[in-house]
Amino acid sequence: MGKRYYCDYCDKSFADTANSRKNHLKGVHHQRMRKLHYDSFRDPSVILAEERGKKPCKMFQSTGYCDFGNSCRFSHMLEQNFKDLEAQVHKGKETGKQKKAAGDNDPTLEQWLEERAKKPKTEVKKKVRDSGIELPQYTLAPCLMNIPNLPPSLRPPPKDAYKYLTLEEWG
Ligand SMILES: [Zn+2]
Ligand SMILES: [Zn+2]
Repeated sequence: MGKRYYCDYCDKSFADTANSRKNHLKGVHHQRMRKLHYDSFRDPSVILAEERGKKPCKMFQSTGYCDFGNSCRFSHMLEQNFKDLEAQVHKGKETGKQKKAAGDNDPTLEQWLEERAKKPKTEVKKKVRDSGIELPQYTLAPCLMNIPNLPPSLRPPPKDAYKYLTLEEWG
């Protein structure tokens, strides 16, 4: 089996040849799906103003097809599309207002830091001493006992060395 080309916008796959790919990318369906995808990230009021500013495409209005596709300088929006878009803009404004009225804005980093600062320190940091962790007891290895001036890395850690370590809470 040859390679398949998968188009994310259209959720469709086909044999990957230069020709079929070119035809697909030029197709009306693909261009509409692609525009839909990118428009979903844009402010509907911006799209509305943009489309309202264009003259309707006569070709598209009468045949439902236009050679220029997305790069057409006339609008391919139909009356129903305008209505849907207007409803969307209206709805967006309403929820925006409600959110502001309820003070229900998305949490900010500042708020998170403030909350975190309020937490008692003991919750964030715990000393090993009170944590109930069993600390290992180190003794010098017998084979090292007769060697004078051992480097510190070979000596056992001093007693209580780990008692005052601070455990950080992760996350
Ligand atoms: Zn496609
Ligand atoms: Zn057109």
